[in-house]
Amino acid sequence: MKYISTRGKSPELNFCDVLLGGLAPDGGLYLPKTYPKFTKNDLDLMRSMSYQELAFSIFEKFIDDIPKDDLMGIVNNTYTADVFGYNRSNQNSNEITPTLKLKDNLYLLSLSNGPTLAFKDIAMQFLGHIFEYVLAKENKTLNILGATSGDTGPAAEYAMKGKKGINVFMLSPYGTMSPFQAAQMFSLADENIYNIAVKGVFDDCQDIVKAVSNDLQFKKDNNIGAVNSINWGRILAQIVYYFKGYLAVTKDSTEQVDFTVPTGNFGNICAGHIARMMDLPIRHLVVATNENDVLDEFFRTGKYYPRTSENTFQTSSPSMDISKASNFERFIFDLIGRDASSLRDYWKQIDNGGFFELDIETKDKVSMFGFISSSSKHRNRIKFIKQFYEEYDVIIDTHTADGVKASLDHLSKDTPMLVLETALPTKFEKTVYEAIGKNPIRPEPLVNLEKEHQIFEVFDNSTSLVKDYILAKK
Ligand SMILES: *Cc1c(COP(=O)(O)O)cnc(C)c1O
Repeated sequence: MKYISTRGKSPELNFCDVLLGGLAPDGGLYLPKTYPKFTKNDLDLMRSMSYQELAFSIFEKFIDDIPKDDLMGIVNNTYTADVFGYNRSNQNSNEITPTLKLKDNLYLLSLSNGPTLAFKDIAMQFLGHIFEYVLAKENKTLNILGATSGDTGPAAEYAMKGKKGINVFMLSPYGTMSPFQAAQMFSLADENIYNIAVKGVFDDCQDIVKAVSNDLQFKKDNNIGAVNSINWGRILAQIVYYFKGYLAVTKDSTEQVDFTVPTGNFGNICAGHIARMMDLPIRHLVVATNENDVLDEFFRTGKYYPRTSENTFQTSSPSMDISKASNFERFIFDLIGRDASSLRDYWKQIDNGGFFELDIETKDKVSMFGFISSSSKHRNRIKFIKQFYEEYDVIIDTHTADGVKASLDHLSKDTPMLVLETALPTKFEKTVYEAIGKNPIRPEPLVNLEKEHQIFEVFDNSTSLVKDYILAKK
């Protein structure tokens, strides 16, 4: 399988090069040249597979530059009950991404049973293992530089800690993460993990990462890499649970299902889009946004109008507070028939801080890709957290609550709807408490998390300080 850039002016690459690469040299995002298709018969065969077997049978279609036995080994080391076994009732389970039935045709797909209690673990843990493998094979090292406002940082650090050939330098805004999120990162004492709290906001952290990455010489000399949401390996790993969820709620492999996805950077739902392109029988992909409704606006009007960071609201589902959805370009590329030249025209507007609007003909095509959308507000989150607790005895987190709101807007009588649970409620205790007057039960190992010893550096908002630190520690 070869990979091509959405902007059409980069060399075709193999999987391993795309994996370590990040953005394509022309500024685009890499996608597989074609999508492998799965027939009804293939799906039938998948029904008896474990999560690991399912993951392997999907990955092997996209990865042909890693021997199959090695790939199987990576998958088996990644998706273990030890790592993904927490669940909401505090009992370990062997099932990876189990489905919870709420009522007829309404399900939660639990994606948050990994070490940091957010769906990002599913992809990030895979990256940890496959990075270590590829780096060892190519005799390379990698210094991962990232910025986080809360969920990405912990998932990346838990995945990379102790991995050979990898250091992580994670920037976060000093004093603004939730105590739980800060403790998740700062309590890690592994030698290859470096936490830097920057006196500034998340955008300042992001700007430092961009400034370092734009210094091409520094980047090359110091093997600077990223694990941000545009990484193809992350999208690939997320395709698996759409298949798993589908198989869990259907008996016949021609039945259709709907998925609702709490969406920020369009990474999670992009994997759903690709699963659908692989002929998984998905009828609707429901994009759920919070008050930051750029994508809901797009799917209603055909106009993509990214907001500035000043116009991005801070909400109680903070991992969806985005002004510009970095993976959206991948979908638009498919929508316009993979016409790289038109895509460049669209993104010229976006990269200059502008917007674009689809012509009528292209806008009509959106529905052929199954997308519909809804947005949600703080009061909806409160309402559905309370309602689901009372009706189903299930405590959902704020992001999942945005998903629930959108799913109920679009629920239909005869089609199963799976809402992706993107975090456990413990991560967002404050709002959950506001909704139901009590805190959710924490998984056992995390009960005293905030009391553990914390290690982190506090830096002024300065790119050169961060560079010097990387030089000293790498
Ligand atoms: C990251 C995140 C999202 C948004 O996912 P995208 O892939 O960026 O669309 C939603 N909910 C939670 C809890 C997250 O951590």
